[in-house]
Amino acid sequence: MNLFVPQQFRQKFPLITRYAKYSTDKSQSKSSIVYFDNAATTQKPEQVIACQQRYYGEYNANVHRASHQLSTNATFAFEKARTLVQKFIGANSIKEIIWTKGTTESINLVVQSLARNTLTSADEIVLCASEHHANIVPWQIVAEQTGAVIKILPLNEQGFIDVSNLDEFISKKTKFVACAHISNVLGRINPIKAVIAKAKSVGAISLIDGAQAVAHIAVDVRALDCDFYVFSAHKMYGPTGIGVLYGKQALLENMPPYQGGGEMIKTVSFTQTTTFNSLPFKFEAGTPNIAAVIGFGESITFLAPLLADIQKGYNLYEQKMVNHCYQELAKIAQVNFIVEGIPDIGVIAFTIAGHHNHDVATSLDASGIAIRSGHHCAMPLMAHLNIDGCLRVSLAAYNTIEEIDYFINCLREVLLEDFSQAGVQVELQQKNHAKTEQLINLRTKEMKDIITLFTTVKGWDSRHREIMLLGKNLPRMEQALRNEQTIITGCESLAWLKVEQTRQGVYFFSADSDAKIIRGLLVIVLAAFNHKTAEQIHNFDIKEYFNQLGLIQHLSPSRGNGLLAIVDKIKLLAKE
Ligand code: PLP
Repeated sequence: MNLFVPQQFRQKFPLITRYAKYSTDKSQSKSSIVYFDNAATTQKPEQVIACQQRYYGEYNANVHRASHQLSTNATFAFEKARTLVQKFIGANSIKEIIWTKGTTESINLVVQSLARNTLTSADEIVLCASEHHANIVPWQIVAEQTGAVIKILPLNEQGFIDVSNLDEFISKKTKFVACAHISNVLGRINPIKAVIAKAKSVGAISLIDGAQAVAHIAVDVRALDCDFYVFSAHKMYGPTGIGVLYGKQALLENMPPYQGGGEMIKTVSFTQTTTFNSLPFKFEAGTPNIAAVIGFGESITFLAPLLADIQKGYNLYEQKMVNHCYQELAKIAQVNFIVEGIPDIGVIAFTIAGHHNHDVATSLDASGIAIRSGHHCAMPLMAHLNIDGCLRVSLAAYNTIEEIDYFINCLREVLLEDFSQAGVQVELQQKNHAKTEQLINLRTKEMKDIITLFTTVKGWDSRHREIMLLGKNLPRMEQALRNEQTIITGCESLAWLKVEQTRQGVYFFSADSDAKIIRGLLVIVLAAFNHKTAEQIHNFDIKEYFNQLGLIQHLSPSRGNGLLAIVDKIKLLAKE
């Protein structure tokens, strides 16, 4: 038995070791990354990367179609991966393993091939309150198509699916029950066996979203007795763009194809009915993502032994990190956990009193710490919890206790800084940002002031501080003005924009957001557009401006899109 050795495991991940030089001395931490966004996607071990490269460099060919040697080699590796997945989840046969793009496509396949063809307006679909959008929206689409009704299983206080009253939600009317094995926000292992058994007892079909489970717990689909189980390779050290639909053979046999094309047919004719290939190929139209499948096989080879033998210590190590992280966070007075109690896997969600989630996440990013803020593709859960978003730390077995301590220290520093609504300006900021302090009238701040400011500060860390300070000084809009008319849609956080126009046709905009980082960006954007005519506004090149400020490469696509949404609204309001 090879015991799990955290440091050796960590060394297997090139991206992790490449950016591993983090330090509590901030001046040395510029190019380091502490990656705590593993629930979104994990990093890849060298053997997975190399395996895909070997395919492209040594035996790249299409699968199943040709009789030449390269194709035989590619097909062999491709199908070997399917067998590895079959064994990994304890499926009966490789016929039950369908390649898809990932969890999302797997759910859509079941919904459109099976649910759409069987549901009626008398039927019900049961989901859970904490589902990821991937396990909500496809069902909403099919409910719209068929008239079926969606019912929601509630959560208990600790964030688990409440199974105390399943009879109330799952009845003879229920045709499908779909829920996550582990929520991507709550990190709880749901009592899915009880849910599956209840679904079975009323003749309903069960689908389990295993996206967050497969990297952390051993899954046995036969023991669970679910009808479908879906997951993605990229969350279990494998490549992106590949995932699995496991389905019981008898169900899959009776389902029509999801997509048509090459490989999924037996015969095609213009005069006779086209006939379809056998399982699993019936559901795999077109050239598959061959390199990703082969890489996925390698990630299973990598992960399976760690999960199969609990004595090795992989799970113990993960749990040790979760406990440590949770306990250290719990010592910070402003931290509010989304649900109380140590999660079952390394997914810890929380908010921070007096601080906007995006401000905290971007401040930590400036120290090289990657955590997530937002709704985590679980908007109904956020609504249920009465919050508009939260922060999420998600750990993997290549993370370390030292990284957690570094994160906690940085978080404490962020909370000490005067980015909070009620905070006190720290000496450091006063020293570094005297320039910003001189810029008093932010509502009429000049573009040249902004350009001067940003060309004198270097590095994202300093620029981020300046943006936060600009945001801190932006006057708040009156509460009554923050309404449906002024809201900017498409922005990552809530943001509002108001316009006034002088008799000379010059525009003046004021804006606000509940995130300080967005308020800072608004100051920068408004400086470019205020006191301009409609023509000047429409002719202004905002991307060039952001380039000049050295900001464009630091704006995430979602925040970048949010800024573009602000600019679009400004242009819409400035009528030529
Ligand atoms: N379900 C859960 C619980 C998830 O966490 C995710 C991704 O974060 C998904 C579904 C969607 O996975 P993918 O984007 O790989 O299809």
